[in-house]
Amino acid sequence: MQQQGPVPERIQVPELDRWNVAALYPSSEEWNKDFSKWKGKDEAVRWPHVAAFKGTLSKDAKTLALLIKNYLELDQHLGKLYTYAHLRHDEDVAQDAHKQAFIRITQLLHAFRQECSWIEPELLQISEEKITQYLQSEELREYKTFLEKIIRFKPHTLSASEEKLLATAGLALGSVHRAFGAFNNADLKFPKIADEAGTLHELSHGTYSTYMRNKDRVLRKNAFQTMLGGFKNYENTLCELINGQVQTHLFTAKARNFSSCLEAALFPHQIDVSVYHNLIATVRKHLPMLHRYMALRKQILGYDELHMYDLSIPFVSQVDFTMPYEEAAKVVSESVVPLGEEYQKLLHKGLLENRWVDRYENLRKRSGAYSSGCYGSMPYILMNYHNNFQDVTTLAHEAGHSMHSLFSWKNQPYQDADYTIFVAEVASTFNEELLLTHLLKITPEKEKKAYLINQKIEDLRNTFFRQAMFAEFELKIHTFAEQGIPLTPDLLRAEYLKLNRDYFGPAVTIDEEIGVEWARIPHFYYGFYVYQYSTGIAASYSLTKVVAQKGPENYLKFLSSGGSLYPLAALQLAGVDMHKPDAIEALMHRFDELTHELKSLLGISLETTTPCVKAAL
Ligand SMILES: [Zn+2]
Repeated sequence: MQQQGPVPERIQVPELDRWNVAALYPSSEEWNKDFSKWKGKDEAVRWPHVAAFKGTLSKDAKTLALLIKNYLELDQHLGKLYTYAHLRHDEDVAQDAHKQAFIRITQLLHAFRQECSWIEPELLQISEEKITQYLQSEELREYKTFLEKIIRFKPHTLSASEEKLLATAGLALGSVHRAFGAFNNADLKFPKIADEAGTLHELSHGTYSTYMRNKDRVLRKNAFQTMLGGFKNYENTLCELINGQVQTHLFTAKARNFSSCLEAALFPHQIDVSVYHNLIATVRKHLPMLHRYMALRKQILGYDELHMYDLSIPFVSQVDFTMPYEEAAKVVSESVVPLGEEYQKLLHKGLLENRWVDRYENLRKRSGAYSSGCYGSMPYILMNYHNNFQDVTTLAHEAGHSMHSLFSWKNQPYQDADYTIFVAEVASTFNEELLLTHLLKITPEKEKKAYLINQKIEDLRNTFFRQAMFAEFELKIHTFAEQGIPLTPDLLRAEYLKLNRDYFGPAVTIDEEIGVEWARIPHFYYGFYVYQYSTGIAASYSLTKVVAQKGPENYLKFLSSGGSLYPLAALQLAGVDMHKPDAIEALMHRFDELTHELKSLLGISLETTTPCVKAAL
């Protein structure tokens, strides 16, 4: 049961509410023993049984197989040591012994990566002929996928001396991203902002989104103008920074023989650029669906003008949604019935009996939520469960990741178990969708239903539409750079404002300030990353339909495939083709359906403009 009253010390939390980290190592002493076993020598070369292979990889298949075996064995054990240390550290981040252990293993892992950094380049310098021979050899059969994933970079790999030059330049090129991080996280400060009553509030990146959901419109407006005003003050600097990042992508793409920045970014996981273009084109085609929702929002809020700072405020009255952890775990387990008995039982046990989840807050515990673990372990979910709807959704989400990992670990050898980010969010959002469907089924009250649907709509607006808009902006600025068009503050502002107008439609007043919002999005420094949120959620929605019609068999195969297949092939196996517009379209139709459902639950007809709709607030 969740504790009442003040947040307890870790030691006061009942065992069932804590994750079973002792299943990895029964004690810190055991961890220390294992650490000593795998840490290698305290010399310049820590692991000579790996380093000794340097310069021998082109000898024969047997030699290479032995190197890979030694390497993977170390990698796996260090991974286990790391998992224990990071889980223990997150339980109480001030606990000194755990902190020390965490630092030690992090440093050791770094040393390991450094000491083994010669392997990939040496593999990539082996002749085509020899590689073909290797891939067909009996000795390397179990490492075929592992090797292929490295070797496919060969056409984009330069000579050894050129690679060395690129690696050295990389240190300097990385300063752009670091400069933005330093500016955004440390140097940028905002003045206090006033609410309706004139009370002043601190404004930070963390409080901003909370203010955007506050009922006080003056506070929202002030937060919006002050936040974006803060970035506007440094618009020229920030434009140079983003330009520097884009130029870095362009430089790397050209140096490595890619035809575009997009192609270079998508290559590592074999994502076809058509998947990216398809996302943008399909979303654009169906934007009126988002416009309809915005019109509904405007109507319900009853404002003459719906401003950018009015887009996140909840407009369905807060219902009393309280669900203790045990009930949530049951509901989440019931929601996955479509995935079959094995999946359901495993999850039910994991969440309620086998202590996968570190359920509640304790003093100095890490905030937020995640799913972790290592090959062969149970999944570990960190939560700070507070009985609200968001927490239930988070539990379903993390449980989706956990089950994906578990199925991958169970069905793949170590070297092929890790799945990529492109498919990771498919498994998590799939379970969120099942949860919503189940909750709507078991919730008779109209107001509660409307609340659930509104939450889902807002979630889709942020994780699907907003990310697709970001993806389009990213593509635009990279294309400009590729065409030699200079990125200036005026150009970026104009493009960003246009995107906002196109996306939000006629019901929303696009405030000028939003034109600089691009400057506060850290993801733009990652390079073509955010589109995966949109494609992931679209794929998962389609897969819930496939499972409903044909059963879970192929979906479970997808979960079990881990990293043995490239993401698009894995999704194809599950039953969705991300080259085609279908999955994107289906999700947008789902969004539209939810808007209509919400409208009818709230008793609203979009055509009428009666002011009494405000009563729905
Ligand atoms: Zn996730």
